[in-house]
Amino acid sequence: MPEKSLILIMWDQLSLELASLQAANQAKDVVLLVEASEEATYVSHHKKKLAFLFSAMRHFAQELSAAGWTVVYIKLDDPENTGSLIKETKSAVIDHNCDQIVVTEPGDWRLYKRFQDLNGQASVPVKILADARFLCSRKEFHEWADGRKQIRMENFYRDMRRKTGLLLKDEKPEGGKWNFDKENRKPGFEGLEFLGPKHFEPDIITREVLDLISKNFPENFGDLEPFWFAVTRHEAEQALQHFIDNSLKLFGPYQDALMKDEAFLFHSVISLYINIGLLDSIEVCQKIESEYRKGKVPLNSAEGFIRQIIGWREFVRGNYWLKMPDYLSLNFFENSEKLPKFYWSGETPMACLRASLKQTKEEAYAHHIQRLMITGNFAMLAGVDPKQVHEWYLAVYIDAHEWVELPNTLGMSQFADGGVLGSKPYAASGNYIKKMSNYCKSCKYDVQKKVGEDACPFNYLYWDFLARNKEKLKNNRRLSMVYRIWGGMDKQDKDNVRKTASWFLSQEL
Ligand SMILES: Cc1cc2nc3c(=O)[nH]c(=O)nc-3n(C[C@H](O)[C@H](O)[C@H](O)COP(=O)(O)OP(=O)(O)OC[C@H]3O[C@@H](n4cnc5c(N)ncnc54)[C@H](O)[C@@H]3O)c2cc1C
Ligand code: SF4
Repeated sequence: MPEKSLILIMWDQLSLELASLQAANQAKDVVLLVEASEEATYVSHHKKKLAFLFSAMRHFAQELSAAGWTVVYIKLDDPENTGSLIKETKSAVIDHNCDQIVVTEPGDWRLYKRFQDLNGQASVPVKILADARFLCSRKEFHEWADGRKQIRMENFYRDMRRKTGLLLKDEKPEGGKWNFDKENRKPGFEGLEFLGPKHFEPDIITREVLDLISKNFPENFGDLEPFWFAVTRHEAEQALQHFIDNSLKLFGPYQDALMKDEAFLFHSVISLYINIGLLDSIEVCQKIESEYRKGKVPLNSAEGFIRQIIGWREFVRGNYWLKMPDYLSLNFFENSEKLPKFYWSGETPMACLRASLKQTKEEAYAHHIQRLMITGNFAMLAGVDPKQVHEWYLAVYIDAHEWVELPNTLGMSQFADGGVLGSKPYAASGNYIKKMSNYCKSCKYDVQKKVGEDACPFNYLYWDFLARNKEKLKNNRRLSMVYRIWGGMDKQDKDNVRKTASWFLSQEL
Protein backbone atom coordinates (compact mmCIF):
# COMPACT_ATOMS: atom_id res chain seq x y z
CA MET A 1 0.00 0.00 0.00
CA PRO A 2 1.38 3.42 -0.94
CA GLU A 3 2.09 5.62 2.06
CA LYS A 4 1.65 9.01 0.50
CA SER A 5 0.25 9.92 -2.92
CA LEU A 6 0.83 12.95 -5.08
CA ILE A 7 -2.46 13.90 -6.69
CA LEU A 8 -2.04 15.98 -9.82
CA ILE A 9 -5.09 18.00 -10.80
CA MET A 10 -5.27 19.51 -14.27
CA TRP A 11 -6.93 22.78 -15.28
CA ASP A 12 -10.09 21.07 -16.46
CA GLN A 13 -10.50 18.90 -13.34
CA LEU A 14 -11.56 21.47 -10.77
CA SER A 15 -14.10 19.43 -8.83
CA LEU A 16 -14.06 18.21 -5.24
CA GLU A 17 -15.85 15.11 -6.54
CA LEU A 18 -12.91 14.24 -8.81
CA ALA A 19 -12.06 10.51 -8.72
CA SER A 20 -8.49 11.11 -7.55
CA LEU A 21 -9.65 13.28 -4.64
CA GLN A 22 -12.37 10.83 -3.72
CA ALA A 23 -9.77 8.05 -3.56
CA ALA A 24 -7.23 10.09 -1.58
CA ASN A 25 -6.27 10.23 2.04
CA GLN A 26 -6.69 13.88 2.99
CA ALA A 27 -4.54 13.55 6.10
CA LYS A 28 -1.46 12.37 4.19
CA ASP A 29 -1.68 13.03 0.46
CA VAL A 30 -0.46 16.10 -1.40
CA VAL A 31 -2.45 17.84 -4.13
CA LEU A 32 -0.47 19.47 -6.95
CA LEU A 33 -1.74 22.09 -9.40
CA VAL A 34 0.60 23.51 -12.03
CA GLU A 35 0.19 26.45 -14.37
CA ALA A 36 2.18 24.78 -17.14
CA SER A 37 3.39 26.95 -20.01
CA GLU A 38 3.42 23.83 -22.24
CA GLU A 39 -0.35 23.60 -21.82
CA ALA A 40 -0.80 27.34 -22.17
CA THR A 41 1.08 27.47 -25.47
CA TYR A 42 0.44 24.23 -27.41
CA VAL A 43 -2.08 26.27 -29.37
CA SER A 44 -2.36 30.05 -29.17
CA HIS A 45 -5.31 30.07 -26.75
CA HIS A 46 -7.61 33.07 -26.58
CA LYS A 47 -6.47 35.42 -23.80
CA LYS A 48 -9.84 35.11 -22.01
CA LYS A 49 -9.57 31.32 -22.10
CA LEU A 50 -6.17 31.38 -20.36
CA ALA A 51 -7.37 33.90 -17.79
CA PHE A 52 -10.47 31.82 -17.08
CA LEU A 53 -8.54 28.58 -16.64
CA PHE A 54 -5.78 30.03 -14.46
CA SER A 55 -8.15 32.05 -12.31
CA ALA A 56 -10.47 29.05 -11.81
CA MET A 57 -7.41 26.92 -10.88
CA ARG A 58 -6.24 29.46 -8.31
CA HIS A 59 -9.71 29.70 -6.78
CA PHE A 60 -10.00 25.92 -6.69
CA ALA A 61 -6.64 25.62 -4.91
CA GLN A 62 -8.01 27.99 -2.27
CA GLU A 63 -11.14 25.88 -1.94
CA LEU A 64 -9.02 22.75 -1.48
CA SER A 65 -6.85 24.37 1.18
CA ALA A 66 -9.94 25.62 3.02
CA ALA A 67 -11.31 22.07 2.93
CA GLY A 68 -8.17 20.78 4.66
CA TRP A 69 -6.06 19.47 1.76
CA THR A 70 -2.31 19.98 1.56
CA VAL A 71 -1.96 21.90 -1.69
CA VAL A 72 1.14 22.70 -3.73
CA TYR A 73 0.39 25.36 -6.32
CA ILE A 74 2.96 26.30 -8.94
CA LYS A 75 2.26 29.61 -10.65
CA LEU A 76 3.21 30.30 -14.24
CA ASP A 77 5.81 32.88 -13.26
CA ASP A 78 7.32 30.99 -10.32
CA PRO A 79 11.07 31.12 -11.09
CA GLU A 80 11.51 27.36 -10.65
CA ASN A 81 8.50 26.42 -12.85
CA THR A 82 9.84 24.36 -15.78
CA GLY A 83 6.55 24.79 -17.66
CA SER A 84 6.08 21.04 -17.98
CA LEU A 85 3.36 19.09 -16.16
CA ILE A 86 5.43 15.94 -16.24
CA LYS A 87 8.65 17.54 -14.93
CA GLU A 88 6.80 19.38 -12.17
CA THR A 89 5.05 16.16 -11.16
CA LYS A 90 8.33 14.28 -11.03
CA SER A 91 9.98 16.99 -8.91
CA ALA A 92 7.02 17.21 -6.54
CA VAL A 93 7.16 13.46 -5.93
CA ILE A 94 10.73 13.86 -4.66
CA ASP A 95 10.17 17.15 -2.80
CA HIS A 96 7.20 15.76 -0.87
CA ASN A 97 8.40 12.18 -0.42
CA CYS A 98 5.48 10.62 -2.24
CA ASP A 99 5.48 6.99 -3.31
CA GLN A 100 2.70 7.15 -5.90
CA ILE A 101 1.34 9.58 -8.49
CA VAL A 102 -2.43 9.61 -8.91
CA VAL A 103 -4.22 11.36 -11.78
CA THR A 104 -7.79 11.31 -12.99
CA GLU A 105 -7.64 10.40 -16.67
CA PRO A 106 -6.79 13.55 -18.65
CA GLY A 107 -9.49 14.65 -21.08
CA ASP A 108 -7.11 14.81 -24.03
CA TRP A 109 -5.42 11.84 -25.64
CA ARG A 110 -2.10 13.76 -25.84
CA LEU A 111 -1.86 14.10 -22.07
CA TYR A 112 -3.35 10.70 -21.37
CA LYS A 113 -0.56 9.12 -23.41
CA ARG A 114 2.08 11.14 -21.57
CA PHE A 115 0.85 9.95 -18.19
CA GLN A 116 0.62 6.38 -19.41
CA ASP A 117 4.23 6.66 -20.58
CA LEU A 118 5.26 8.21 -17.30
CA ASN A 119 4.30 5.00 -15.55
CA GLY A 120 7.56 3.10 -15.72
CA GLN A 121 9.71 6.20 -16.33
CA ALA A 122 8.96 7.92 -13.02
CA SER A 123 10.58 6.84 -9.77
CA VAL A 124 7.14 5.81 -8.43
CA PRO A 125 4.08 4.16 -10.02
CA VAL A 126 1.43 6.26 -11.77
CA LYS A 127 -2.20 5.40 -11.17
CA ILE A 128 -4.73 6.73 -13.72
CA LEU A 129 -8.33 6.71 -12.50
CA ALA A 130 -11.41 6.83 -14.74
CA ASP A 131 -13.11 10.24 -14.88
CA ALA A 132 -16.42 9.73 -13.13
CA ARG A 133 -17.73 13.16 -14.18
CA PHE A 134 -19.20 11.57 -17.31
CA LEU A 135 -22.39 9.59 -17.49
CA CYS A 136 -20.96 7.04 -19.89
CA SER A 137 -17.45 5.78 -19.16
CA ARG A 138 -14.99 5.19 -21.98
CA LYS A 139 -15.33 1.44 -21.47
CA GLU A 140 -19.12 1.59 -21.50
CA PHE A 141 -19.11 3.58 -24.73
CA HIS A 142 -16.78 1.06 -26.38
CA GLU A 143 -19.17 -1.72 -25.38
CA TRP A 144 -22.16 0.26 -26.60
CA ALA A 145 -20.54 0.96 -29.99
CA ASP A 146 -19.06 -2.49 -30.39
CA GLY A 147 -20.73 -4.53 -33.14
CA ARG A 148 -23.03 -1.72 -34.30
CA LYS A 149 -22.91 -1.08 -38.02
CA GLN A 150 -23.56 2.59 -37.48
CA ILE A 151 -23.37 4.57 -34.29
CA ARG A 152 -25.89 7.36 -34.12
CA MET A 153 -26.37 9.97 -31.43
CA GLU A 154 -30.14 9.51 -31.32
CA ASN A 155 -29.88 5.82 -30.29
CA PHE A 156 -27.17 6.60 -27.77
CA TYR A 157 -29.23 9.46 -26.34
CA ARG A 158 -32.26 7.23 -25.78
CA ASP A 159 -30.09 4.79 -23.86
CA MET A 160 -28.76 7.65 -21.73
CA ARG A 161 -32.33 8.79 -20.99
CA ARG A 162 -33.14 5.24 -19.91
CA LYS A 163 -29.96 5.07 -17.83
CA THR A 164 -30.61 8.34 -15.98
CA GLY A 165 -34.40 8.19 -15.92
CA LEU A 166 -34.42 11.84 -17.05
CA LEU A 167 -37.73 12.94 -18.60
CA LEU A 168 -39.22 9.45 -18.43
CA LYS A 169 -42.76 8.55 -17.42
CA ASP A 170 -43.50 4.87 -16.80
CA GLU A 171 -40.26 4.07 -18.64
CA LYS A 172 -41.55 5.93 -21.73
CA PRO A 173 -40.35 9.32 -22.93
CA GLU A 174 -42.19 12.24 -21.42
CA GLY A 175 -44.63 13.72 -23.96
CA GLY A 176 -44.63 10.51 -26.05
CA LYS A 177 -41.53 11.40 -28.09
CA TRP A 178 -37.80 11.23 -27.44
CA ASN A 179 -36.98 14.32 -29.42
CA PHE A 180 -38.80 17.62 -29.95
CA ASP A 181 -36.32 19.12 -32.39
CA LYS A 182 -38.98 19.96 -34.98
CA GLU A 183 -40.37 22.54 -32.54
CA ASN A 184 -36.92 24.01 -32.01
CA ARG A 185 -36.10 25.68 -35.30
CA LYS A 186 -37.60 29.14 -35.06
CA PRO A 187 -35.64 32.05 -36.50
CA GLY A 188 -35.14 35.09 -34.28
CA PHE A 189 -36.92 38.36 -34.98
CA GLU A 190 -36.31 42.00 -34.16
CA GLY A 191 -37.93 42.84 -30.83
CA LEU A 192 -37.10 39.49 -29.23
CA GLU A 193 -35.32 40.30 -25.95
CA PHE A 194 -32.32 38.45 -24.60
CA LEU A 195 -30.86 39.01 -21.16
CA GLY A 196 -27.56 37.23 -21.83
CA PRO A 197 -25.37 35.42 -19.31
CA LYS A 198 -24.66 36.60 -15.77
CA HIS A 199 -21.57 38.78 -15.38
CA PHE A 200 -19.20 38.66 -12.41
CA GLU A 201 -16.77 41.33 -11.23
CA PRO A 202 -13.16 40.08 -11.27
CA ASP A 203 -11.82 39.72 -7.69
CA ILE A 204 -8.19 40.21 -6.59
CA ILE A 205 -7.15 36.73 -7.76
CA THR A 206 -8.69 37.23 -11.19
CA ARG A 207 -7.13 40.69 -11.48
CA GLU A 208 -3.70 39.20 -10.77
CA VAL A 209 -4.30 36.57 -13.43
CA LEU A 210 -5.44 39.21 -15.92
CA ASP A 211 -2.15 41.04 -15.37
CA LEU A 212 -0.22 37.80 -15.78
CA ILE A 213 -1.93 37.01 -19.08
CA SER A 214 -1.54 40.51 -20.44
CA LYS A 215 2.19 40.44 -19.58
CA ASN A 216 2.97 36.92 -20.78
CA PHE A 217 0.64 36.41 -23.74
CA PRO A 218 0.38 39.82 -25.42
CA GLU A 219 0.33 38.36 -28.93
CA ASN A 220 -2.39 35.77 -28.30
CA PHE A 221 -5.72 36.06 -30.06
CA GLY A 222 -8.67 37.86 -28.50
CA ASP A 223 -9.66 40.59 -26.07
CA LEU A 224 -8.70 39.98 -22.46
CA GLU A 225 -11.14 42.46 -21.00
CA PRO A 226 -13.88 42.99 -20.05
CA PHE A 227 -13.60 39.68 -18.19
CA TRP A 228 -16.90 38.65 -16.63
CA PHE A 229 -16.93 34.85 -16.35
CA ALA A 230 -17.58 32.84 -13.20
CA VAL A 231 -14.40 31.35 -11.76
CA THR A 232 -15.73 29.37 -8.78
CA ARG A 233 -18.34 26.65 -8.34
CA HIS A 234 -20.53 29.06 -6.37
CA GLU A 235 -20.48 31.64 -9.17
CA ALA A 236 -21.02 29.00 -11.86
CA GLU A 237 -24.13 27.85 -9.97
CA GLN A 238 -25.40 31.42 -10.02
CA ALA A 239 -24.72 31.60 -13.76
CA LEU A 240 -26.76 28.42 -14.27
CA GLN A 241 -29.63 29.72 -12.12
CA HIS A 242 -29.62 32.96 -14.09
CA PHE A 243 -30.00 30.97 -17.30
CA ILE A 244 -32.80 28.83 -15.83
CA ASP A 245 -34.70 31.89 -14.58
CA ASN A 246 -34.31 34.01 -17.69
CA SER A 247 -33.59 32.01 -20.82
CA LEU A 248 -34.40 28.30 -20.50
CA LYS A 249 -38.06 28.75 -21.42
CA LEU A 250 -37.16 30.07 -24.86
CA PHE A 251 -33.94 28.08 -25.27
CA GLY A 252 -35.75 25.35 -27.24
CA PRO A 253 -37.65 27.29 -29.90
CA TYR A 254 -34.74 29.66 -30.68
CA GLN A 255 -31.92 27.16 -30.32
CA ASP A 256 -31.00 27.42 -34.00
CA ALA A 257 -31.59 31.17 -34.41
CA LEU A 258 -28.86 33.60 -35.42
CA MET A 259 -29.15 37.32 -34.71
CA LYS A 260 -26.91 40.22 -35.62
CA ASP A 261 -25.39 41.92 -32.53
CA GLU A 262 -26.65 39.16 -30.24
CA ALA A 263 -23.84 36.90 -29.13
CA PHE A 264 -25.73 34.68 -26.68
CA LEU A 265 -29.47 34.68 -27.51
CA PHE A 266 -31.12 32.14 -25.17
CA HIS A 267 -28.03 29.93 -24.85
CA SER A 268 -26.81 28.97 -21.40
CA VAL A 269 -23.07 29.76 -21.70
CA ILE A 270 -22.25 26.99 -19.23
CA SER A 271 -20.15 24.61 -21.36
CA LEU A 272 -17.00 26.32 -20.05
CA TYR A 273 -18.05 25.61 -16.45
CA ILE A 274 -19.12 22.00 -17.01
CA ASN A 275 -15.97 21.23 -18.98
CA ILE A 276 -13.62 22.19 -16.14
CA GLY A 277 -15.66 20.73 -13.29
CA LEU A 278 -17.30 23.85 -11.83
CA LEU A 279 -20.71 22.39 -12.67
CA ASP A 280 -21.73 18.74 -12.70
CA SER A 281 -23.45 17.79 -15.96
CA ILE A 282 -26.00 15.43 -14.42
CA GLU A 283 -26.92 17.83 -11.63
CA VAL A 284 -27.47 20.48 -14.32
CA CYS A 285 -29.83 18.14 -16.20
CA GLN A 286 -31.71 17.25 -13.02
CA LYS A 287 -32.28 20.95 -12.32
CA ILE A 288 -33.60 21.44 -15.84
CA GLU A 289 -35.92 18.44 -15.49
CA SER A 290 -37.23 19.74 -12.22
CA GLU A 291 -38.12 23.08 -13.87
CA TYR A 292 -40.17 21.13 -16.39
CA ARG A 293 -41.85 19.04 -13.67
CA LYS A 294 -42.78 22.24 -11.81
CA GLY A 295 -44.44 23.48 -15.00
CA LYS A 296 -42.04 26.39 -15.37
CA VAL A 297 -40.57 25.50 -18.77
CA PRO A 298 -42.00 23.68 -21.78
CA LEU A 299 -40.93 20.15 -22.65
CA ASN A 300 -39.30 21.09 -25.95
CA SER A 301 -36.90 23.43 -24.11
CA ALA A 302 -36.10 21.01 -21.29
CA GLU A 303 -35.70 18.02 -23.62
CA GLY A 304 -33.67 20.03 -26.14
CA PHE A 305 -31.29 21.16 -23.44
CA ILE A 306 -30.90 17.79 -21.74
CA ARG A 307 -30.26 16.15 -25.14
CA GLN A 308 -27.29 18.45 -25.74
CA ILE A 309 -25.70 17.30 -22.51
CA ILE A 310 -26.48 13.62 -22.02
CA GLY A 311 -26.76 13.11 -25.78
CA TRP A 312 -24.30 15.15 -27.82
CA ARG A 313 -21.75 15.94 -25.14
CA GLU A 314 -21.39 12.33 -24.00
CA PHE A 315 -21.59 11.03 -27.57
CA VAL A 316 -18.75 13.20 -28.87
CA ARG A 317 -16.58 12.19 -25.92
CA GLY A 318 -17.26 8.50 -26.54
CA ASN A 319 -16.33 8.93 -30.20
CA TYR A 320 -13.16 10.82 -29.35
CA TRP A 321 -11.81 7.97 -27.24
CA LEU A 322 -13.06 5.36 -29.67
CA LYS A 323 -11.23 6.91 -32.62
CA MET A 324 -8.11 8.58 -31.22
CA PRO A 325 -5.30 9.00 -32.16
CA ASP A 326 -6.17 8.32 -35.82
CA TYR A 327 -9.14 10.66 -35.67
CA LEU A 328 -6.83 13.68 -35.67
CA SER A 329 -5.56 13.01 -39.18
CA LEU A 330 -8.87 12.19 -40.92
CA ASN A 331 -9.57 14.24 -44.02
CA PHE A 332 -12.41 12.64 -45.98
CA PHE A 333 -12.57 15.36 -48.64
CA GLU A 334 -8.76 15.67 -48.83
CA ASN A 335 -9.13 19.39 -48.23
CA SER A 336 -5.88 21.34 -48.19
CA GLU A 337 -6.67 25.06 -48.42
CA LYS A 338 -5.24 27.36 -45.75
CA LEU A 339 -7.51 28.74 -43.05
CA PRO A 340 -8.47 32.25 -44.28
CA LYS A 341 -6.57 35.02 -42.50
CA PHE A 342 -9.85 36.73 -41.69
CA TYR A 343 -10.65 33.96 -39.18
CA TRP A 344 -8.11 35.72 -36.95
CA SER A 345 -8.85 39.33 -37.88
CA GLY A 346 -12.61 39.18 -38.44
CA GLU A 347 -12.12 41.45 -41.44
CA THR A 348 -14.42 40.19 -44.15
CA PRO A 349 -17.33 41.78 -45.98
CA MET A 350 -19.45 38.67 -45.32
CA ALA A 351 -21.71 39.96 -42.53
CA CYS A 352 -22.50 36.57 -41.00
CA LEU A 353 -18.85 35.60 -40.71
CA ARG A 354 -17.79 39.07 -39.58
CA ALA A 355 -20.31 39.02 -36.72
CA SER A 356 -19.42 35.48 -35.60
CA LEU A 357 -15.69 36.21 -35.71
CA LYS A 358 -16.00 39.61 -33.99
CA GLN A 359 -17.79 38.11 -31.00
CA THR A 360 -15.34 35.19 -30.95
CA LYS A 361 -12.53 37.72 -30.60
CA GLU A 362 -14.40 39.74 -27.97
CA GLU A 363 -15.98 36.99 -25.90
CA ALA A 364 -14.16 33.73 -26.75
CA TYR A 365 -17.70 32.48 -27.39
CA ALA A 366 -19.96 31.72 -30.31
CA HIS A 367 -23.11 29.67 -30.02
CA HIS A 368 -23.52 26.31 -31.65
CA ILE A 369 -25.15 27.44 -34.88
CA GLN A 370 -22.50 30.08 -35.48
CA ARG A 371 -19.76 27.46 -34.96
CA LEU A 372 -21.52 24.90 -37.13
CA MET A 373 -23.36 26.78 -39.84
CA ILE A 374 -21.27 29.95 -40.24
CA THR A 375 -17.57 29.44 -39.50
CA GLY A 376 -17.62 25.64 -39.83
CA ASN A 377 -19.82 25.59 -42.91
CA PHE A 378 -17.70 28.23 -44.68
CA ALA A 379 -14.41 26.42 -43.95
CA MET A 380 -15.78 23.15 -45.31
CA LEU A 381 -17.28 24.76 -48.44
CA ALA A 382 -13.98 26.58 -49.05
CA GLY A 383 -12.02 23.32 -48.79
CA VAL A 384 -9.90 24.30 -45.78
CA ASP A 385 -7.58 21.67 -44.29
CA PRO A 386 -9.62 20.26 -41.36
CA LYS A 387 -6.59 20.13 -39.08
CA GLN A 388 -6.15 23.88 -39.41
CA VAL A 389 -9.85 24.35 -38.71
CA HIS A 390 -9.53 22.15 -35.63
CA GLU A 391 -6.55 24.10 -34.30
CA TRP A 392 -8.42 27.36 -34.75
CA TYR A 393 -11.47 26.16 -32.80
CA LEU A 394 -9.28 24.70 -30.08
CA ALA A 395 -7.53 28.05 -29.65
CA VAL A 396 -10.35 30.56 -29.84
CA TYR A 397 -13.19 29.24 -27.66
CA ILE A 398 -13.21 29.44 -23.90
CA ASP A 399 -14.80 25.97 -23.59
CA ALA A 400 -12.41 24.28 -26.04
CA HIS A 401 -10.73 21.08 -24.85
CA GLU A 402 -9.71 18.58 -27.47
CA TRP A 403 -12.02 15.71 -26.43
CA VAL A 404 -15.09 17.85 -27.11
CA GLU A 405 -13.78 20.28 -29.70
CA LEU A 406 -12.19 17.79 -32.10
CA PRO A 407 -15.21 15.56 -32.82
CA ASN A 408 -17.43 18.61 -33.10
CA THR A 409 -15.05 20.28 -35.54
CA LEU A 410 -13.51 17.51 -37.52
CA GLY A 411 -16.54 15.22 -37.40
CA MET A 412 -19.68 17.27 -37.10
CA SER A 413 -18.69 20.49 -38.82
CA GLN A 414 -16.09 19.39 -41.41
CA PHE A 415 -17.34 15.83 -42.13
CA ALA A 416 -13.65 14.90 -42.20
CA ASP A 417 -14.52 11.52 -40.63
CA GLY A 418 -16.69 10.68 -43.65
CA GLY A 419 -19.86 10.29 -41.58
CA VAL A 420 -18.99 8.75 -38.22
CA LEU A 421 -20.49 11.55 -36.18
CA GLY A 422 -23.16 12.83 -38.52
CA SER A 423 -24.98 11.20 -41.38
CA LYS A 424 -24.40 14.05 -43.86
CA PRO A 425 -22.23 17.15 -44.10
CA TYR A 426 -23.65 20.27 -42.47
CA ALA A 427 -23.30 22.21 -45.71
CA ALA A 428 -25.69 25.06 -46.42
CA SER A 429 -26.11 27.89 -48.87
CA GLY A 430 -26.92 31.52 -48.04
CA ASN A 431 -30.59 30.66 -48.08
CA TYR A 432 -30.32 28.78 -44.76
CA ILE A 433 -28.46 31.71 -43.16
CA LYS A 434 -31.04 34.16 -44.49
CA LYS A 435 -33.90 32.04 -43.12
CA MET A 436 -32.39 31.70 -39.64
CA SER A 437 -30.86 35.16 -39.18
CA ASN A 438 -30.98 38.87 -39.96
CA TYR A 439 -27.34 39.01 -41.05
CA CYS A 440 -28.01 39.26 -44.76
CA LYS A 441 -29.84 42.58 -44.50
CA SER A 442 -26.59 44.38 -43.69
CA CYS A 443 -24.30 42.40 -45.97
CA LYS A 444 -22.41 43.68 -48.98
CA TYR A 445 -23.38 40.50 -50.82
CA ASP A 446 -26.75 39.67 -52.28
CA VAL A 447 -28.12 36.49 -50.78
CA GLN A 448 -30.61 36.09 -53.64
CA LYS A 449 -27.88 35.99 -56.27
CA LYS A 450 -26.31 32.69 -57.20
CA VAL A 451 -23.30 33.79 -59.23
CA GLY A 452 -21.21 36.89 -59.93
CA GLU A 453 -18.95 39.05 -57.80
CA ASP A 454 -21.77 40.46 -55.67
CA ALA A 455 -23.54 37.12 -55.10
CA CYS A 456 -23.49 35.58 -51.63
CA PRO A 457 -20.34 33.39 -51.54
CA PHE A 458 -22.18 30.68 -49.58
CA ASN A 459 -24.43 30.17 -52.62
CA TYR A 460 -21.86 29.26 -55.27
CA LEU A 461 -19.46 27.67 -52.77
CA TYR A 462 -22.25 25.34 -51.67
CA TRP A 463 -22.89 24.00 -55.17
CA ASP A 464 -19.20 23.96 -56.01
CA PHE A 465 -18.57 21.88 -52.85
CA LEU A 466 -21.24 19.37 -53.87
CA ALA A 467 -19.96 19.19 -57.44
CA ARG A 468 -16.33 18.87 -56.33
CA ASN A 469 -17.13 16.04 -53.94
CA LYS A 470 -19.76 14.26 -55.98
CA GLU A 471 -17.87 10.97 -56.16
CA LYS A 472 -17.54 10.87 -52.38
CA LEU A 473 -21.10 11.91 -51.57
CA LYS A 474 -23.31 10.70 -54.40
CA ASN A 475 -24.34 7.52 -52.59
CA ASN A 476 -25.39 9.35 -49.45
CA ARG A 477 -29.15 8.94 -49.43
CA ARG A 478 -29.69 12.15 -47.49
CA LEU A 479 -28.11 14.06 -50.38
CA SER A 480 -29.94 12.39 -53.24
CA MET A 481 -32.39 15.27 -53.57
CA VAL A 482 -29.69 17.96 -53.81
CA TYR A 483 -27.75 15.94 -56.37
CA ARG A 484 -30.96 15.59 -58.39
CA ILE A 485 -31.31 19.38 -58.34
CA TRP A 486 -27.66 19.81 -59.38
CA GLY A 487 -28.11 17.21 -62.12
CA GLY A 488 -31.14 19.10 -63.44
CA MET A 489 -29.33 22.45 -63.66
CA ASP A 490 -28.46 23.99 -66.96
CA LYS A 491 -24.83 23.40 -68.06
CA GLN A 492 -24.21 27.13 -68.39
CA ASP A 493 -25.49 27.73 -64.85
CA LYS A 494 -23.27 24.99 -63.52
CA ASP A 495 -20.25 26.43 -65.31
CA ASN A 496 -20.99 29.87 -63.89
CA VAL A 497 -21.22 28.47 -60.37
CA ARG A 498 -17.90 26.69 -60.69
CA LYS A 499 -16.20 29.67 -62.31
CA THR A 500 -17.39 32.11 -59.63
CA ALA A 501 -16.30 29.70 -56.91
CA SER A 502 -12.89 29.27 -58.47
CA TRP A 503 -12.48 33.06 -58.83
CA PHE A 504 -13.51 33.59 -55.19
CA LEU A 505 -11.20 30.92 -53.82
CA SER A 506 -8.25 32.14 -55.87
CA GLN A 507 -8.25 35.44 -53.96
CA GLU A 508 -6.28 35.76 -50.76
CA LEU A 509 -8.92 35.22 -48.08
C1 LIG B 1 -17.25 23.30 -34.76
C2 LIG B 1 -17.73 23.17 -33.35
C3 LIG B 1 -16.83 23.22 -32.31
C4 LIG B 1 -17.27 23.06 -31.00
N1 LIG B 1 -16.35 23.10 -29.99
C5 LIG B 1 -16.75 22.93 -28.70
C6 LIG B 1 -15.80 22.97 -27.65
O1 LIG B 1 -14.61 23.17 -27.85
N2 LIG B 1 -16.25 22.80 -26.37
C7 LIG B 1 -17.58 22.59 -26.10
O2 LIG B 1 -17.93 22.43 -24.93
N3 LIG B 1 -18.48 22.53 -27.09
C8 LIG B 1 -18.12 22.71 -28.37
N4 LIG B 1 -19.05 22.67 -29.38
C9 LIG B 1 -20.45 22.36 -29.04
C10 LIG B 1 -21.34 23.59 -28.75
O3 LIG B 1 -21.26 24.49 -29.81
C11 LIG B 1 -20.97 24.27 -27.44
O4 LIG B 1 -21.01 23.32 -26.39
C12 LIG B 1 -21.97 25.37 -27.09
O5 LIG B 1 -22.03 26.31 -28.13
C13 LIG B 1 -21.55 26.03 -25.81
O6 LIG B 1 -22.36 27.12 -25.52
P1 LIG B 1 -23.53 27.07 -24.43
O7 LIG B 1 -22.97 26.61 -23.13
O8 LIG B 1 -24.20 28.38 -24.46
O9 LIG B 1 -24.43 25.92 -25.00
P2 LIG B 1 -26.03 25.71 -25.07
O10 LIG B 1 -26.45 25.97 -26.46
O11 LIG B 1 -26.71 26.46 -24.00
O12 LIG B 1 -26.13 24.13 -24.84
C14 LIG B 1 -26.17 23.56 -23.53
C15 LIG B 1 -25.01 22.66 -23.24
O13 LIG B 1 -25.06 21.50 -24.05
C16 LIG B 1 -23.74 21.03 -24.31
N5 LIG B 1 -23.59 20.90 -25.76
C17 LIG B 1 -24.39 21.41 -26.71
N6 LIG B 1 -24.01 20.97 -27.94
C18 LIG B 1 -22.93 20.21 -27.74
C19 LIG B 1 -22.08 19.48 -28.60
N7 LIG B 1 -22.29 19.44 -29.93
N8 LIG B 1 -21.04 18.83 -28.06
C20 LIG B 1 -20.81 18.85 -26.75
N9 LIG B 1 -21.60 19.50 -25.88
C21 LIG B 1 -22.65 20.17 -26.37
C22 LIG B 1 -22.78 22.04 -23.71
O14 LIG B 1 -22.30 21.55 -22.50
C23 LIG B 1 -23.64 23.26 -23.52
O15 LIG B 1 -23.23 24.06 -22.44
C24 LIG B 1 -18.65 22.84 -30.70
C25 LIG B 1 -19.54 22.80 -31.78
C26 LIG B 1 -19.10 22.95 -33.08
C27 LIG B 1 -20.08 22.86 -34.19
S1 SF4 C 1 -25.48 37.40 -47.89
FE1 SF4 C 1 -24.28 35.55 -47.68
S2 SF4 C 1 -22.33 36.24 -46.83
FE2 SF4 C 1 -23.79 37.89 -46.54
S3 SF4 C 1 -24.64 37.56 -44.49
FE3 SF4 C 1 -26.00 36.53 -45.92
S4 SF4 C 1 -25.25 34.46 -46.00
FE4 SF4 C 1 -23.63 35.68 -45.09
